[in-house]
Amino acid sequence: MKKIQMVDLKGQYEDIKKEVNDSIAEILDSSAFINGPHVHAFQKELEAYLGVKHVIPCANGTDALQICMMGLGLQPGDEVITADFTFAATVEVIALLNLVPVLVDVEPDTFNIDIKAIEKAITPKTKAIVPVHLFGQCANMDEIMELAGKHNLYVIEDNAQAIGATYSSKNGKKQQAGTMGHVASTSFFPSKNLGCYGDGGAIFTNDDDLAHIIRGMVNHGMYKRYYHDVVGVNSRLDSIQAAVLRAKLPHLDTYNRKRAESAAKYSRAFEGQEHIVVPKIVGDSHVFHQYTLKITNGKRDALVQHLNDNGVPCGVYYPVPLHRQKAYLDSRYNEADFPVTNQLVEEVISLPMHTELDDEQIQFITKLVIDFVNK
Ligand SMILES: *Cc1c(COP(=O)(O)O)cnc(C)c1O
Repeated sequence: MKKIQMVDLKGQYEDIKKEVNDSIAEILDSSAFINGPHVHAFQKELEAYLGVKHVIPCANGTDALQICMMGLGLQPGDEVITADFTFAATVEVIALLNLVPVLVDVEPDTFNIDIKAIEKAITPKTKAIVPVHLFGQCANMDEIMELAGKHNLYVIEDNAQAIGATYSSKNGKKQQAGTMGHVASTSFFPSKNLGCYGDGGAIFTNDDDLAHIIRGMVNHGMYKRYYHDVVGVNSRLDSIQAAVLRAKLPHLDTYNRKRAESAAKYSRAFEGQEHIVVPKIVGDSHVFHQYTLKITNGKRDALVQHLNDNGVPCGVYYPVPLHRQKAYLDSRYNEADFPVTNQLVEEVISLPMHTELDDEQIQFITKLVIDFVNK
């Protein structure tokens, strides 16, 4: 059996080696390392793939989120609601901009932000909601957009984990993750579903004015060369990373399909297991950035150890709720408001998930998990 990896970037590279190497060689030959033609071409290709009017590439997914909030003109003291169960980047940029993070609980089945919890957290100071499409499945965007409309709030989708996922609305319209809110961010970190070979990120929006503001903001607040109208940042996607992404974008749907197929195999193997809850697919699409189980008989930590002892990497995303992280402690939080997140951090475990998993590996992993959990 091939060695099992959490994410097999090497195996994936072997398959597209020529495309990637040719693409990178072109950059080296042209020496257009910053803002070269590949960056522009990638932007256009991603706009076409997503069906969104504007893609603004930037340096990473964390910058992308921060720039979304700067572009919307959020001001110190404005409250921004986001999920308690997510990667810290989401709340970090809110705090960095001196906005007020308001963490709320998530749903037990999808791990995504809970609409009722959002509703409860809205105050006259609330300006935006940041749903995170966690582990590759869209948050409940119909209800989020409706609630945001009612309260005049911006919606910033954190789409770092769900690029290529789709969402079907009640009205029958099917849209790409990251194109439904006012603005969205994504990350091209190597292990993400569309990953480059370093850092990268992008912002998406259908709003022409906001796109214009953001294009200047990522470039030192410059709209005309050496005229700085607003305080911006320096956040660029390297040409070399754009070249890698151009080679990989045509494969994204295949990659996501492979992930979903592996997820289906895992879930089939775990069928009928009393103490193992498999991830629930609620809409028409889940791109499985992570395949995350809940182990309900208290053996999660022991299982992590057991898998590691047997050469199977795994992850606990995430082991601590954000509201209990030192950096984000806030006396307004009440433990009773986070029953789901508080339980998830005890139960979740993510199994190896990437585009190169084979049946032998999946059988090996599922057998180890089932035998151990029932022991
Ligand atoms: C990865 C990730 C980010 C940050 O992206 P970087 O490119 O690493 O800065 C933000 N939010 C979520 C949910 C992520 O998973």
